Amino acid sequence: MRGFGVIDPADGSLITEITLADIEETDAAIARAATAFESWRRVAPSDRARLLRRFAAVVDAHVEELAGLEVRNAGHTIGNARWEAGNVRDVLDYYAGAPERLAGRQIPVAGGLDVTFHEPLGVVGLIVPWNFPMPIAAWGLAPALAAGNTVLLKPAELTPLTALRLAELALDAGLPPDVLTVLPGRGDVVGERFVTHPAVRKVCFTGSTAVGKRVMAGCAEQVKRVTLELGGKSASIVFADADLERAAAAAPGAVFDNAGQDCCARSRLLVERAVYDEFMALLEPAVRAFRVEDPWLPTAQMGPLISARQHATVSSYVDGAETLFTGGVPAESSGGFWFPPTVLRADSPRDRHWREEIFGPVVSVLPFDGEDEAVRLANDTAYGLSGSIWTRDLGRAIRVARGVEAGNLSVNSSSSVRHWTPFGGMKQSGLGRELGPDALLSFTDVKNVFINTEQ
Ligand code: NAD
Repeated sequence: MRGFGVIDPADGSLITEITLADIEETDAAIARAATAFESWRRVAPSDRARLLRRFAAVVDAHVEELAGLEVRNAGHTIGNARWEAGNVRDVLDYYAGAPERLAGRQIPVAGGLDVTFHEPLGVVGLIVPWNFPMPIAAWGLAPALAAGNTVLLKPAELTPLTALRLAELALDAGLPPDVLTVLPGRGDVVGERFVTHPAVRKVCFTGSTAVGKRVMAGCAEQVKRVTLELGGKSASIVFADADLERAAAAAPGAVFDNAGQDCCARSRLLVERAVYDEFMALLEPAVRAFRVEDPWLPTAQMGPLISARQHATVSSYVDGAETLFTGGVPAESSGGFWFPPTVLRADSPRDRHWREEIFGPVVSVLPFDGEDEAVRLANDTAYGLSGSIWTRDLGRAIRVARGVEAGNLSVNSSSSVRHWTPFGGMKQSGLGRELGPDALLSFTDVKNVFINTEQ
């Protein structure tokens, strides 16, 4: 057991101190979750559905409280934080429809009846990062619980407050004890124990690619199921035939939302050379107008970075690079981890700021010539999470969307997430899909049963 100070990133002040779980507490929680699994898996589908719907309703009644906690703990703007709490409600509602629809198949066979079942796995361990504490928790826990698993959730050290509150709300909604347990703790203690403990049957990890590889290697030891949502270095491709005004207006939000601490951030901007100057002239006022201010203000579009450490990391990419223009930070920003929206010119696709995930409000811009080069440059990365294609040519939009190796693309848009469509990465951005109709089955194993009907 040890104390950990939770900090408000807007001014660096201490919000509260929480106790981090140690190995013994983690093992005890895993044992309780394994016991709870035996009864939770037997709860009738309609009752499990009703409990999840009730959980969604309780979250809905606490959207303001949860959003306020996230503004303080993570520096998210109040507008974003309300969306995030609402997303938890919506994801719970969506997967509340699942227990009654988790149907297997009947397959024709000679001499009997063959049926399949989607069996729950057991205890599922969720490891959540600090950038979107609420949605990422919900994307794992809702389908896992719906499929009949019990869940242990480890929030990031820096952002445990909303997860702890969600666990209380689950109990208020009537979920039985130990079905959902939130265990604040260190990644190399609690998170690693999820990987090594044999009673944890699946790990859902969202975080950096480096730690994700380690989690995957550890899970291999027990052939443990694993879903990985990792880093990204996504590209927006702006073709000369695009609606440039719309593309330029959308570009700041596509990368600076959540201060760029978004795995889907379009942090590489590829602009067709013929319209490069025109597009940049439209982008500059849009970036300068992006409202970086007190995250409690309803007008705020961006708040501070999460920590001093993240501030230093982001700064290291900007120092020495060619800055084209920046937005502002609030005048009264002392003590917080504020960083202005920043637009860098890439000299070549080998630049460090073009290649590495910065996870801050920094976008690198590079001109290109023609469709083939755009696709080649977009794919010249180990990542493959998301991206945008701006063009008025429908055929080109589809060709390029099929050519770009990324799990979530949008055309003439920069939105990546809808809770009823699949989300996840190609290449080193991840493994498996969250959300949508597919996620549920990744929390189950198929069991085939043959019943002999011959005398
Ligand atoms: P991180 O990898 O350091 O930490 C993520 C989580 O893993 C934390 O809860 C941490 O405590 C835990 N962890 C750390 N070491 C561990 C270990 N050895 N074993 C088990 N767990 C361990 O990442 P971060 O800095 O918190 O988050 C930022 C990263 O997350 C970025 O790279 C970002 O792209 C990625 N991310 C990806 C997605 C996605 O859906 N693809 C979403 C959000 C964030």
